[in-house]
Amino acid sequence: MKTTAQHPFDLAFPVEGDSLCVGGMPLARLAERAGQTPFYAYDRALLDARVGQLRAALPADVHLHYAVKANPMPALVQHMAGRVDGFDVASAGELKTVLDTAMPPEKISFAGPGKTLKELRQAAAAGIVVNLESAREMEALAQAGAALGLRPKAAVRVNPDFELKSSGMKMGGGPKQFGVDAERVPELLARMRELDLEFYGFHIFSGSQNLRAESIMEAQEKTFELALRLAPHAPGPVRLLNLGGGFGIPYFPGEQPLDLARVGEHLHGLMPKARADFPQAEFVIELGRYLVGEAGVYVARVIERKISRGQVFLVVDGGLHHHLSASGNFGQVIRKNYPVRVGNRVEGGEASGPASVVGPLCTPLDILADKMELAHAQEGDLVVVFQSGAYGLSASPTAFLGHPAAVELLV
Ligand SMILES: *Cc1c(COP(=O)(O)O)cnc(C)c1O
Repeated sequence: MKTTAQHPFDLAFPVEGDSLCVGGMPLARLAERAGQTPFYAYDRALLDARVGQLRAALPADVHLHYAVKANPMPALVQHMAGRVDGFDVASAGELKTVLDTAMPPEKISFAGPGKTLKELRQAAAAGIVVNLESAREMEALAQAGAALGLRPKAAVRVNPDFELKSSGMKMGGGPKQFGVDAERVPELLARMRELDLEFYGFHIFSGSQNLRAESIMEAQEKTFELALRLAPHAPGPVRLLNLGGGFGIPYFPGEQPLDLARVGEHLHGLMPKARADFPQAEFVIELGRYLVGEAGVYVARVIERKISRGQVFLVVDGGLHHHLSASGNFGQVIRKNYPVRVGNRVEGGEASGPASVVGPLCTPLDILADKMELAHAQEGDLVVVFQSGAYGLSASPTAFLGHPAAVELLV
């Protein structure tokens, strides 16, 4: 049985001989270039292609921000700096990474609950836009501005009074630690008038990892409506309206890619009214996973092919300590396999029945593939986990068990 095209995911990567190519290089050679396995590789051409698809689908005046949390590798962030219109960061560490790029500070925003006075001072000094998540943050930001003798840029992150339906992760609607509840925003804005803050606008992020165009379309519509209800309370015109993001990528069998064209068409339809309602606003969509997730692979080498009571285990030199999400332990309720292939046997040879790919950690949680149909792999072969460009290494417990680190390549 051939194992070609087991998943649609690897079609983006060309095959040469029997080997997958990433960044134009066969995997075995890339491993030599890396100097080790395991490694992550992020493909520049695929990053650029994704930005191109978004530019083609979305209205030209809806700007594209990269949410750095998805993949904060400095070289990748540098690469993205020349291609997107702004960055969204969620910590002082991410802020440092983006300030090392050429991105202008007013195109950088900082979200996340519990910002400390120290972080707010850094943000104010940098001249970036702070997405305020509470009245405390607002007071602290004004204090930071006063101490520094400048006027910090402030947007209000709103916890909307609606949800992004069928989201992998809901981050708005109902009680949340994120943002200011929509019904309390007018009161916050009234207080802002008394403070020396430069009002920028609103940040309304309702959820993540959504594959349903209708849900995203509905959320965008409701986001414009909510911003329009809040705008009269603001101390100044809305100059920035961040519509959130939430565009998902398919990971598991049966999942269909997001219909980006539909989302884009619908947004085109909403824009004439939005431009009239917010004549001074820059419109922004912020995406993490959708920009970078499909451009990355994680590669580990088979150390041993082990049979236990008839079941095949491919023990590899990488695992959950580098790729927690592929192990199923990063927010999944029921464990499902990420798309996995034997990257140097893509044409497959003979499949040998189901095999499980496990890491070297002494815990049963360290699984990269559970009883999958894979090409017959042996010691030395390279196992590839697709859809690994987002929430990979930086979202993993790298210190757990003290195994060697993975390297990251931008190719
Ligand atoms: C996590 C996060 C994102 C990125 O989410 P993706 O699912 O990776 O697109 C964007 N904005 C905010 C505020 C976030 O917290």
